[in-house]
Amino acid sequence: MMVKIIPQRGLESLPTYRPGRQIEEIQREYGITDVIKLASNENPLGVSPKAVEALENMLGKVNFYPDGQCFNLRNSLAKHLHILPEQVMVGNGEDGLILEICLAFLDENSEAIVSCSSFPIYDIYIRTMRAKLVKTPLHEFRLDLQAMADAVTDRTKVIFVCNPNNPTGTTITAADAAAFLVRIPDNVLVIFDEAYFEFVDTDNFPDTIQYVNEGRENILVLRTFSKIYGLAGLRLGYAIGAPSILSALNKVKEPFSVNLLAQTAGLAVLEDQEFRQKTFQITQEGRKYLYQEFDRLDLNYVKSQTNFIMTEIGPRANEIIEKMTCKGVVIRPCSAYDLPYFARISIGTPEQNARLVKTLEEVLNAVN
Ligand SMILES: *Cc1c(COP(=O)(O)O)cnc(C)c1O
Repeated sequence: MMVKIIPQRGLESLPTYRPGRQIEEIQREYGITDVIKLASNENPLGVSPKAVEALENMLGKVNFYPDGQCFNLRNSLAKHLHILPEQVMVGNGEDGLILEICLAFLDENSEAIVSCSSFPIYDIYIRTMRAKLVKTPLHEFRLDLQAMADAVTDRTKVIFVCNPNNPTGTTITAADAAAFLVRIPDNVLVIFDEAYFEFVDTDNFPDTIQYVNEGRENILVLRTFSKIYGLAGLRLGYAIGAPSILSALNKVKEPFSVNLLAQTAGLAVLEDQEFRQKTFQITQEGRKYLYQEFDRLDLNYVKSQTNFIMTEIGPRANEIIEKMTCKGVVIRPCSAYDLPYFARISIGTPEQNARLVKTLEEVLNAVN
């Protein structure tokens, strides 16, 4: 049989997303045991004990389908965020919601605007829908909202604003956001991806939920349980927006997109603000320590509002990252983000941060 099954047109030139490498994969491939992963911005404190307990109690019930509408979790989120339950929708990770947004709003006649060097999942689903992907440049490692607004045409359907931005860790201010939104027509959906919202430590961060509460229907806010809440492995995210927008997402979603255990753990971690607070604290301290050490090593980095720091390690970045991997310290190259001289380094526990610095210093000394 020689017939080749050809994927749909949108897929021809689409690159495959490459996530941070798994600890087990590194252990297998390099024959080492003591591996730390600072490549995917996961929670270094592990899982909230309250979530573990709730999960244990639910394990014997996975014979049941989950609630496709996540009634309890939506109500709990609504209470925590001071919004109505009908203004929130839960998804199979933020990634799942990004896919649903693209399925619901894009087709080959539409355009979608994203920034260069931002979260790559947007590009993948935009292109899968065969919409035109319009990319604007960064300005001093920040999203350039002026350029994004300038790129709007009468075909533009969605704009993805990653704030704080991954991989640069930078934010846009409330004033930037307000000036930007004034320029955006009502028929263009602006998605604020706030995956790192809980790590932000500045008082000029935009209050995007307030826009939704004021009745603006062309704004959607995305957040996740993967980062500060430590549930990356369960896949849980949510979208806040007008019911009219969420009902379009509801039409295209898988009926049971959010599994039973994810919903259970989500409810539990919302009640564990101590875990969230501890994670915030350790991240702040780790950030300060790493800035200090990168300064000592004479490395440039971008000041971050997240649980990772984008650090310039030079033209030999790939070689350096590979050598660090051999020594059991996994960090993320930024070549797929068009920033080939940089690495994105997640902030870990104090022990992990110290090992990262020691290993980086050894490898830098060896290659230079
Ligand atoms: C991690 C991340 C996500 C994905 O979150 P999930 O809920 O795990 O799918 C979305 N956006 C950005 C910017 C991220 O860094």
